[in-house]
Amino acid sequence: ADGRGFREGDLVTLDGTKGEALAGAAEMLPPALDDSFRRLLSWADAVRDIGVRANADTPADAETARKFEAEGIGLCRTEHMFFGEDRITAVREMILSTTEEGRKKALAKIEPFQKADFVGIFEAMDGLPVTIRLLDPPLHEFLPSLVELSERVAVARATGQDDPEAEAQLRRVRQLHEVNPMLGTRGCRLGIEWPDVYRMQVAAIMSAACKVKAETGRPPLVEIMIPLVGFEEELRILREQAVDVAETVLRERGERIDYLVGTMIELPRAALMAEEIARQADFFSFGTNDLTQTTLGFSRDDAETKFLTYYLQHNVIPANPFETIDVDGVGRLVRIAVQEARAGKPAIKLGICGEHGGDPASVAFFHEAGLDYVSCSPYRVQTARIAAARAALGAG
Ligand code: PEP
Ligand code: MG
Repeated sequence: ADGRGFREGDLVTLDGTKGEALAGAAEMLPPALDDSFRRLLSWADAVRDIGVRANADTPADAETARKFEAEGIGLCRTEHMFFGEDRITAVREMILSTTEEGRKKALAKIEPFQKADFVGIFEAMDGLPVTIRLLDPPLHEFLPSLVELSERVAVARATGQDDPEAEAQLRRVRQLHEVNPMLGTRGCRLGIEWPDVYRMQVAAIMSAACKVKAETGRPPLVEIMIPLVGFEEELRILREQAVDVAETVLRERGERIDYLVGTMIELPRAALMAEEIARQADFFSFGTNDLTQTTLGFSRDDAETKFLTYYLQHNVIPANPFETIDVDGVGRLVRIAVQEARAGKPAIKLGICGEHGGDPASVAFFHEAGLDYVSCSPYRVQTARIAAARAALGAG
């Protein structure tokens, strides 16, 4: 450009407003929300009739969510709290442990981290609702990959240097290996098979809530969410367990804090059986990422890098269903679930927390389907507020 050469790896800055490319790393300012923008948002808020929450996993995310005036957290993915050097060691210890005793010991190390994060999140949200999802991903995600471990073990063996840690991890990774982990031992299935994990998480949530109430005088609005439910019985078991743990914590502290227990609707069966599942739930949140994956049979992990681009280029389907809700298919299940759930429990709270929660066209659909709120990345909250207002005005 202009006689100047740039190589791969050279830094350039793109000015998205002016459409300019600047050589090097330009000095940045955080985006400022000026008065006219704030006024526009206030008009939007005055007309919209659907709530806008944010997905936030850490106290820092929660602060960002508040900055963009989210009305709560619609999804806190607790597994993100399991990473980080000091935590992952205890998580791996828990997974590798072959006895209940060992698992409990490792979980006891993780609990203080979770509790501290929940305290930070509750403080940042200052009494607004916080939906905390219990552990969802399959356990192998917390261990090094099968390939990585096999290589480590092979190198250790070839060089005659024992690596018992890698050997133990490899054995466990092989045991946990599943051909289709997204359809395997994850979500509530893991919660039912490994009850101590969810027990620890619920205890951490409730003791954090007690601490924040004691310190601020204001009780957090706690919503405990169970992922990947397909059967009423799954939710019945886990709800009973969550209530048991929560009540024990509250009793021990001589405290009373209201909390809700609900589930995500992420499987076609859950959508079709919403009336039955609603008997066990105070709220539903549509997990449209998984619901899209399971309804279309499109793998979330692979579709976008494989056939989906071809499909879009050749107009086989009109839009990326992971970005914009597939109204005809996935949307139909959402509508059925809304109708079924409200038939069984008119007061049930209904939200959506998949990526679609920040997509304007999808927000218009969720508004029309009668959901109470959408939840999206903090950075899309303002877009969602405007989209919700347009939908309420019939301009969506
Ligand atoms: C979803 O499936 O839509 C969801 C929000 O959960 P996750 O993306 O974590 O599976
Ligand atoms: Mg999901």
